[in-house]
Amino acid sequence: MHEFSVMSQMIEGIIEESKKWNATKVEEVILELGEFTMLGEEQLRFAYEVLTKDNILKGSKLTIVPVKGAIECDCGFKGDMSPSEDTPHRSVPILECPKCGNLARIVGGRECTVKNLRVVVPDV
Ligand SMILES: [Zn+2]
Repeated sequence: MHEFSVMSQMIEGIIEESKKWNATKVEEVILELGEFTMLGEEQLRFAYEVLTKDNILKGSKLTIVPVKGAIECDCGFKGDMSPSEDTPHRSVPILECPKCGNLARIVGGRECTVKNLRVVVPDV
């Protein structure tokens, strides 16, 4: 399960970050999830639940913000890349430029990053 290792690394990073802030609790994690990451939202949520059972993130909320994939081509085409209807489930999309048919570059939608954290910091 790829989602599990991704989430595990992410949570490690969040714990590190919250230590820097002397946070006592993490309330919410806002995660940006790109369309091209091929990570399942449900699996990520499941991993999150399991991995936050007994640490500073316990009981926190996970908000997933989907990021659309975007491609760019040498012919000048630039646009959203939504998986077409006939794309088999969870396979890597074929990045063919819809305009000229050449191979296009991915310019967006590969992120799986923590966008924001809501933590409780004790009053000093
Ligand atoms: Zn093109």
